[in-house]
Amino acid sequence: MKRQEEKQSTKTNTRNGNSNGGTAAKPKQNSKGGMLTQLKKSVKKATESPVREDVKRTTAPTKNRSTSAQASENKSEPLKIIPLGGLNEIGKNLTILEYKNDIMLVDCGFSFPEDEMYGIDIVLPDFTYLIKNANKVKGLILTHGHEDHIGAVPYLLKQLNIPVYGTRLTIGLVENKLKEHGIRGNLKRINPGDKVKIGLFEVETIRVTHSVVDAICLSINTPVGTIFHTGDFKIDYTPVDGAPIDFARLAEIGKRGVKLLMADSTNAMRPGYTASEKVVGEALGNIFRSAEGRIIIATFSSNVHRVQRIIDNAVACGRKVAISGRSMINVVNLAIELGYISIPANTLVDINKLKGIPDSKVLIVTTGSQGEPMSALSRMSTSEHKSVQIRKGDMVILSSTPVPGNEKTVSNVVNKLFEKGADVIYSDIADIHVSGHACQEELKLIHSLIKPTYFMPVHGEYRHLKRHALLAESLGMDSEDIFILENGDMLSLTKQSADLSYNVVSADPVLVDGLGVGDVGNIVLRDRRLLSEAGLIVVVATINRATKEIISGPDIISRGFVYVRENSDLIDEAKIVAQKALEKSHRSNGADWNAMKTCVKEEMRSFIYKSTGRNPVILPIFMEA
Ligand SMILES: [Zn+2]
Ligand SMILES: [Zn+2]
Repeated sequence: MKRQEEKQSTKTNTRNGNSNGGTAAKPKQNSKGGMLTQLKKSVKKATESPVREDVKRTTAPTKNRSTSAQASENKSEPLKIIPLGGLNEIGKNLTILEYKNDIMLVDCGFSFPEDEMYGIDIVLPDFTYLIKNANKVKGLILTHGHEDHIGAVPYLLKQLNIPVYGTRLTIGLVENKLKEHGIRGNLKRINPGDKVKIGLFEVETIRVTHSVVDAICLSINTPVGTIFHTGDFKIDYTPVDGAPIDFARLAEIGKRGVKLLMADSTNAMRPGYTASEKVVGEALGNIFRSAEGRIIIATFSSNVHRVQRIIDNAVACGRKVAISGRSMINVVNLAIELGYISIPANTLVDINKLKGIPDSKVLIVTTGSQGEPMSALSRMSTSEHKSVQIRKGDMVILSSTPVPGNEKTVSNVVNKLFEKGADVIYSDIADIHVSGHACQEELKLIHSLIKPTYFMPVHGEYRHLKRHALLAESLGMDSEDIFILENGDMLSLTKQSADLSYNVVSADPVLVDGLGVGDVGNIVLRDRRLLSEAGLIVVVATINRATKEIISGPDIISRGFVYVRENSDLIDEAKIVAQKALEKSHRSNGADWNAMKTCVKEEMRSFIYKSTGRNPVILPIFMEA
């Protein structure tokens, strides 16, 4: 990929002009004050060549803390922090912590493809660095069970045999994934509050509230100090399970001293607080009571608390509950098994056995709140669902907000549901969803409790990271103590210093298409884009082996270009152009196959462009006879 070449050329471009870590060179002096440049990246599309822009950051008032003692300390081995994913994007979170011969990993998620990644199913982080250093990797700890944190675990475990630590629901979800991939893993269940040792790292886990149960944040003791990673979180003072964040513990950790804070930036642009999950429960209750027909409600399957609230409200209204959609069924079963959901007896009914139950006594919980084309809700909206046909009198509730990029698919589904006569309620018109991520006031609380020396905003696009950095500054942090990294960059920490190096490790997106992992690169994507833009023209001819004269053809076959039957004149003319091109090439180049192909391609391209203004892919196929 293009970005690879760029990596090579910028490999030694570090804040202090040295490369501290990924390459052998050591900084000439303690250079914390030299961390002048800030990397700003325009949003990179996988199919474009990347654009980087180094923005000079105004130097903050100089705090010269550089002493000779520190300079010698600086020469000691630094802790390296290398994000492989999750920066300048919301997705595929994976962070490396490396000290001497020990590497531990935090999270291992995937992301969904961008629009121009035609045919790609999911996007993984690049594991190359980890495979190269396989003997160092001591383990992976997962903060919670969302796909952007666990989705790539099966792909990693196929390449590295390492222990995976996580809380019960998180590990349960991973276990389901591993089964689908037909592999086993060394999975270690922990409880929030447990301490685990991963290589020389001592990790304390602390419960946090988020839109999935069993989420934790991490306080990691390292030889250079404590690294605090929030994972994804919001501050919910009234969580559904009555287990809020242990603020006292966070304050103790902060008091003891935290070298680096890495914190969730998803909602850093939003002022105020994220509302409690409790609000959603109450809003849903009010809506349920007003419904007369069936209720069909879509939400994220992993939001076990939301599902519990939905079921509680259904029971209160005397409704039976049917579960629809594979991932919803899997997660609900797992959550029942682990005791995270409790459902009164005689509440659940099979989705195929709803006949005979009055509409006013039915509630269906389903997947598809993001308008995913294969999901149960989407199939209901197009009458392709086996057991549920949407009809007048149904109330359909989308208890979620579209993830950025999904707005259109969601509104398509909403429109279709309205067309079928359903009453559709979505978060634009009611309080039926709250975010799982902390807004500005909650972030301020965490910063104030943890009081880190250095700060690295994580889990966000550039605008989120930047806004989070400004928020930290507004709380009194020095801008030079705040580091906005890009995937593949490295932050080297010693007891006294922090240094940022750019492009130390390859962190290109790895595309998964069907069973292929990483075999679709920029060239394949470019062809897919060209094919999708103007289609394909195949020029077929049979050529005499000896004389190289045309025996039959040329024929024109096209796909996605024009409707041939209505454009026979154009196709006939194209045949003549191809024939002339072949004859011309034969006259001037004799028997050179490549010259013949090039000549046909070029003549055809210019003819098609002149007559249609389009640029389809042109593929000559000549057979010898
Ligand atoms: Zn996340
Ligand atoms: Zn999450």
